[in-house]
Amino acid sequence: MSDTLLACRDCGQLHRAANALVPGHRLACIRCGRGLSRYPPTGLDAPLALATTALILLLLANIYPIFLVNLEGRAGQDLLISGPLRLSEYGGPFAGLGMLVAGLSFVIPLVWLCLVVIVLTGLRSGDPALRPRLAPLWKTALLLYPWSMLDVYLLGTYVAYSRLSDAVETNVAIGGYALGVLVLVQAVLMVVLGVRRVWDMIADPQQFAPQPGEPWVMCGACQLVTAAPEPGATAGRRLCPRCATALEPRQPGSLSATLALISAAAILYLPANLLAVMTVERFGRVNSYTILAGVEELANLGMWPLALLVFFASIVVPMLKLVSLGWFLYAIRRRSPRRLRERTRLYRLIDVVGRWSNIDVFMVSILAASLQFGFLTTVDPEAGIISFAAVVVLTMLATTIFDPRLMWDAARGEVR
Ligand SMILES: [Zn+2]
Ligand SMILES: [Zn+2]
Repeated sequence: MSDTLLACRDCGQLHRAANALVPGHRLACIRCGRGLSRYPPTGLDAPLALATTALILLLLANIYPIFLVNLEGRAGQDLLISGPLRLSEYGGPFAGLGMLVAGLSFVIPLVWLCLVVIVLTGLRSGDPALRPRLAPLWKTALLLYPWSMLDVYLLGTYVAYSRLSDAVETNVAIGGYALGVLVLVQAVLMVVLGVRRVWDMIADPQQFAPQPGEPWVMCGACQLVTAAPEPGATAGRRLCPRCATALEPRQPGSLSATLALISAAAILYLPANLLAVMTVERFGRVNSYTILAGVEELANLGMWPLALLVFFASIVVPMLKLVSLGWFLYAIRRRSPRRLRERTRLYRLIDVVGRWSNIDVFMVSILAASLQFGFLTTVDPEAGIISFAAVVVLTMLATTIFDPRLMWDAARGEVR
């Protein structure tokens, strides 16, 4: 077996690996520690079975209520779709928020799982003519994956449920159990799937490998290392031979787009934390809650671990993302070689934890849907949750669009 070329997507280091394709073998970047390749020890049957199971569970979680509530003999229930439907009744930006919640908790998870099933079935069929046609599907699946937020939604449900259990009688229902098992199944699926293995089955990277010493480029989508386009070539951009993405040495416009996105998010961070995210009306008494007041309430109910979790996810994480990305941009401007490894690790951290800030968005949506008992208890979403959701989405986009390899380029004085 000849060597496989692996480039690090975080620092740009090129590696020549002899045993990248050995099942169970994990390779990491020698310079920044980023995982480069891990071939799972199982075949395609296990991930296909798990993805199919997950699809069935997703269906169950949508048909049956997540939990039931009971207040003085009046019953209510929370379905996955209840939150988005309830939010759409308020119109305007709340309807948009409802669409966001529906997208993150149902549409994207559904499309992602369907694409996994289609691609794995296609690869298992062994028909070589089918393989190139799977590339755009797999590319779309991987683009959607970070936005498939059932795990975050489950935690949001748990927070909402805990806050509810103080005021009303609550019971977990079939949909809730299905959602819990689904999140577990998805986690196992990600371990046995092997994203790079699937790419390499779609098309073997060896056939596109550059000659020794030839300039190379890594595809931003499928991470194929191939010969770089001729410098100054104007006759159209060259496309990745495996997935047809335009080959660019670095993400184009990364720095200006990151700056624009974090500036917008920084402006919205204030209203997101100062304005109320929801109001609760009980027996004619109206209470408004900001994000911080929600944390305080959890602490007052004695739920300290949950209060800390929400505090970190909703207040610390968005701030950490804004400050970190700001620091990265400043360091690139200064061409600073200081703390490159730490900065790269911090980038990976904010990339992983960023999506968990959505807990509060899901929680407000669930509470507004399940507590509609008129005079007894009614929850309404408020403007603050719109700003908050915008901060989460903008910072997630900024983290995705930021190209950490530019920090390493800048330190070598190569920033363009
Ligand atoms: Zn690296
Ligand atoms: Zn590609």
